[in-house]
Amino acid sequence: MELWFSEHQTPDLSLGLRLRRTLHREHTRFQELLVVDSEAFGRVLCLDGTIQVTERDEFFYHEMLVHLPLMAHPDPRRVLVIGGGDGGSLREICRHEVVEAAVQVEIDPAVMAASRAYLPTLAVGFDDPRVDVRVADGIAFVREHREAFDVIICDSTDPVGPAQGLFEADFYRSCRTALRPGGILAVQSESPLVNADVVRRVALGMNAAFGQSHLALGPMPTYPSGLWSYTLATAAGDPRRPLPSRPLPERLRYYTRDIHAASFLLPPFVEEILAPATEP
Ligand code: SAM
Repeated sequence: MELWFSEHQTPDLSLGLRLRRTLHREHTRFQELLVVDSEAFGRVLCLDGTIQVTERDEFFYHEMLVHLPLMAHPDPRRVLVIGGGDGGSLREICRHEVVEAAVQVEIDPAVMAASRAYLPTLAVGFDDPRVDVRVADGIAFVREHREAFDVIICDSTDPVGPAQGLFEADFYRSCRTALRPGGILAVQSESPLVNADVVRRVALGMNAAFGQSHLALGPMPTYPSGLWSYTLATAAGDPRRPLPSRPLPERLRYYTRDIHAASFLLPPFVEEILAPATEP
């Protein structure tokens, strides 16, 4: 008998993966956690029925979310990750030698435990001596900090449940206060094809907090529509170009300096989504 996992991405769209087996299932305090082994994408971590990472395609997402801000900042010594419980963002951050401290604030310790148990290629991020993991709500954590980080990365679930506040202007204002001068905020901002409302809301919120924001696009095969967005904002400078002075980490599989610059070139249908967010 064949075993399949289906993510109902919208009421009219599902992604199906043929499974080898189910590895782990758990009701955590915050969400329904599932780890499965799939034929096409390797091991997959799901929360509340939504794919968070797969072993085969996570590099697209983590390389873009992390290297866009870290290659655009002249001296990213202190980096904060909100969410990111699988460890993939930490792994990419720690490829940068200049980083002195990488703090991760994840609300659900069960996600980190599952990643350590089943996703070693991602959980390797937790083992770097520069990493400091806190179990807390990222919204409250950021509110308690002033000029503490050079880069803040929001590697969150979709805007439901505990992650809802991570998509609000108030949270982006707290991030601005928690950033050192010249600091950069980078957030995963969903699919422009399936979640245009979220893409626009993030841009409006980040514009309200920072005066402007910049959207980058990249492929992400197992996320809804396969086309994903990342939004960056800074109170000084322009994150759309990598700095020539910043060394490129070795052995990357998707991110290059040219892809960095190209990812901010937007097709008309995305410009249209953002138009209400950029008009004076
Ligand atoms: N790459 C993924 C995606 O876009 O689907 C996100 C991966 S990561 C597993 C997301 C994490 O954000 C989850 O482990 C979840 O527990 C965490 N999270 C959600 N809301 C949070 C909050 N308010 N503070 C800290 N972590 C939060």
